[in-house]
Amino acid sequence: MRKINEECGVFGIFNHPNASELTYFALQALQHRGQEGAGIVTSDGNILKQYKGMGLVNQIFTETKLKKLRGQHSIGHVSYTTSGDGNLLNVQPFLFHSQSGQLALCHNGNIVNSKAIKHHLENNGSIFQTTSDSEVLAHLVKKQRGTFIERLKESLVYLEGAFAFLLLLEDELFIALDKHGLRPLSIGKIDNAYVVASETCAFETIGAKFIRDVLPGEVIRISETKMETSNYAINGKCQLCAMEYIYFSRPDSELLGNNVHAVRKRCGINLANEAPVDADVVIGVPDSGMSSAIGFAEKARIPFELGIIKNKYIGRTFIEPSQKLRDLGVKLKLSAVRSLIENKNVVLIDDSIVRGTTIIKLVKMLKVAGAKAVHVRIAAPIIKFPCFYGVDFTTYQELIGAKHKTDAIRVLIGADSLAYLSLAGLIDAIGNKNICSACFNGEYPTHLYEKIEKANLERK
Ligand code: SF4
Repeated sequence: MRKINEECGVFGIFNHPNASELTYFALQALQHRGQEGAGIVTSDGNILKQYKGMGLVNQIFTETKLKKLRGQHSIGHVSYTTSGDGNLLNVQPFLFHSQSGQLALCHNGNIVNSKAIKHHLENNGSIFQTTSDSEVLAHLVKKQRGTFIERLKESLVYLEGAFAFLLLLEDELFIALDKHGLRPLSIGKIDNAYVVASETCAFETIGAKFIRDVLPGEVIRISETKMETSNYAINGKCQLCAMEYIYFSRPDSELLGNNVHAVRKRCGINLANEAPVDADVVIGVPDSGMSSAIGFAEKARIPFELGIIKNKYIGRTFIEPSQKLRDLGVKLKLSAVRSLIENKNVVLIDDSIVRGTTIIKLVKMLKVAGAKAVHVRIAAPIIKFPCFYGVDFTTYQELIGAKHKTDAIRVLIGADSLAYLSLAGLIDAIGNKNICSACFNGEYPTHLYEKIEKANLERK
């Protein structure tokens, strides 16, 4: 069950004889970041070839299709579309052919001023192929003068928001991260090939070695002979999306040197300190609530149990369009273990509450299974503000935490008690303040252009 969706995950590899196959396996490791569509573009040094489709990575690619993607350089993408329409045209990587050559591009994040840039470019003759915000970079690059890296850096200056871009030419790979470092991006190596991925779990899957994280504002060029680094903007303070720690990233990934499972566990420990409760059993909501539940149970000295089981073989619930079908999906996907819950005071740990629809059903499910009381503990602060950086809660209206106070939320979700981790508790668990926490405190790291006005209008 994905109660929040992020735009996507990216992967790139330069100079490996099995580039397309390794990209395929890496995209499978990043599948949790997007399940609507996936694509790969490969270059053999002369020609760029593309294949993309809707659905999961293993539904889109077959051995035969991968064999056709011959070449030693690849970029790949898994998507959940938060900007543009969720159709095949918007599935990345995008591939452009022009007189100056071929260019493939993929992107994780959201460019907050893309509308204004697109408008300007269209007025000056650009014809867009997709409705995705990512395409603006390709058009901007085309308009500049100089070498490709000069044109790229010049273009990136115009962009505001969150972005981790991969750009593939016939025989060069370019990597760019926004100046706030809002989205994660890491570099590794396998044999003689450089790899780049949204999360380090992709490196583990293909046997690559982590080298380092890409820095905010950094632009990297990888060619046959070397990896060169430069900047399009002065390295500012890194403000990695806090929800990467809380929810998006896989527990086995390392974000800026922090293991995600360990951070979530510390969130659970801090939550037990901040909001203790007398109970018989601690239960985590699979998957992202589990690490915090382990931490909470350990600190509170209450037994941890697998009181909710996830059926891994049910399709992801967000794919279903209507709320009615989504509701059905929740029931199909998670079930309570009656023998562990009946007549018990239960602490239910979840990673976050966004709209509240999931937690309402879970509390009810535990009560139907015989729980005496359900005490909900959330291992993140209250989400009160929308996100404009590629995460799919973009209005105040949809956020239960923006509309109600904690006790009203407790009543709405049917819990016997409810408490959230404080922002200080989250920062302590992460070990530094290098995070974006805008959805908790409204302190957005970038200018938001028209989006905040739109979100504010919806609040009224
Ligand atoms: S607003 Fe929240 S979800 Fe969006 S980038 Fe910042 S921390 Fe992440």
